[in-house]
Amino acid sequence: MSAYTAFRKRCTVGLLAIGILLSLSGCVDESTSLERIQKEGVLRVITRNSPATYFQDRSGETGFEYELAKRFADDLGVELQIETADNLDELYSRLSQPNGPELAAAGLTASEERQAQARFSASYLEVSPQVVYRNGQRRPTRPDDLLGKRILVLKGSSHAEQLRKLQRQLPRLEFEESDAVEVVDLLHMVDEGQIDLTLVDSNELAMNQVYFPNVRVAFDFGDASSLSWAVSSGEDLSLLSEVNAFLQRAKQNGTLQRLKDRYYGHVDVLGYVGAYTFAKHLQQRLPRYEKHFRNAAQTDQLDWRLLAAMGYQESLWQPEATSKTGVRGLMMLTQNTAKAMGVANRLDPKQSIVGAGKYFNMLRDSLAAEIKEPDRSWFALAAYNIGIAHLGDARKLAEAEGLDQNKWLDVKKMLPRLSQKQWYRKTRYGYARGGETVHFVQNVRRYYDILTWVTQPQLEGSKIAESGLHIPAIDKRKPSEDAAPQL
Ligand code: GLU
Repeated sequence: MSAYTAFRKRCTVGLLAIGILLSLSGCVDESTSLERIQKEGVLRVITRNSPATYFQDRSGETGFEYELAKRFADDLGVELQIETADNLDELYSRLSQPNGPELAAAGLTASEERQAQARFSASYLEVSPQVVYRNGQRRPTRPDDLLGKRILVLKGSSHAEQLRKLQRQLPRLEFEESDAVEVVDLLHMVDEGQIDLTLVDSNELAMNQVYFPNVRVAFDFGDASSLSWAVSSGEDLSLLSEVNAFLQRAKQNGTLQRLKDRYYGHVDVLGYVGAYTFAKHLQQRLPRYEKHFRNAAQTDQLDWRLLAAMGYQESLWQPEATSKTGVRGLMMLTQNTAKAMGVANRLDPKQSIVGAGKYFNMLRDSLAAEIKEPDRSWFALAAYNIGIAHLGDARKLAEAEGLDQNKWLDVKKMLPRLSQKQWYRKTRYGYARGGETVHFVQNVRRYYDILTWVTQPQLEGSKIAESGLHIPAIDKRKPSEDAAPQL
């Protein structure tokens, strides 16, 4: 080997070694955020602790953003770790810290001012910013009507940004921002008349309407806006493009729609009037019967809120309710059921509740062992409404169709057939209004969900609980002992 060749070889080896070292050190620095998440097996998501985003309910962590983020983490095959920020400014600042969370999922509006602070994903929900006022006050209908009003919005929110813009046209417009409150507090303050107006997104209002009987929409403030997830601003787009692909899939396969119905569908199901009415009855009527529901539920090892939800569906918590078909009382017992359950006076709310709890429990116990919770409770509700015999018919129809007769989702599809001759003539017990039963179960479940949210024990002693009204859990404590059994 000539001296020159040896020299070249040494150089090549040296260069190679340097190259390897460089690329090794480069590996650490240059891995993308997505690669880091996958390597560590954890996705850190920052959110707001509020009913429309993330909170604790009877079965643990929940909320629209939580559910969606959980699915995203599952898709990535990593664990989801939730962090909460006290307010929006803190959320954005933590997102941009080098060791901060990788993703923000918090009902965020991709507004102009924020584009500098963070990068936003594609939209997953279209919402309308809404001006909210108190029923009984004069309804504002346009931006000019905001003048001279006490207005409070979330600090650092898209709504504050919108109001600042409006101030350029209406310099006399005044408003305040607070980082000590959440949307529920703003609505509470309007409800109680502590402020005149606030601005919140339509999805947040839909979620909370049932708790605030006096809160009304004045008008939509500007155009619809898009809610998006956010990542820190910077060159690394790896996570963002993964998020966008996930959101696209969630749109296509119906996941987004399902979550939207589940979390923001209250007003759709109850209607606006139903939502105010429920809120009013929650404050005025439920307290009179709560102890009876609790006592009866304890005896029958039921969740009292399920029993209360049934009572609301049956009579709107009215002990003297009577129907054309002869069912009577708060739980609308038939004469036969009342007799069988030892109820002497159906119009006595306590007796009615005790009888209904006993009856429900008996029905639930009599169901086939193959029907497991939570379906078991939904079947018992259906039997409470339509009778165990017709429910049996619907189960047989399900079986004949190759469906699972032990799954509520399948039997629910069969129940409406009990009112169609081509189907009911093949059944043992014949015609029944099965469609109504499906509604009955659906409504009771909806009221049950709401009651579970409003009776979160964690909130005792909070500002809002002092008013006698409880709102969904907005702290990070684990669900308490009082939480319902898994239904
Ligand atoms: N979307 C709002 C924002 O990004 C927060 C939610 C609300 O205030 O209703 O500022």
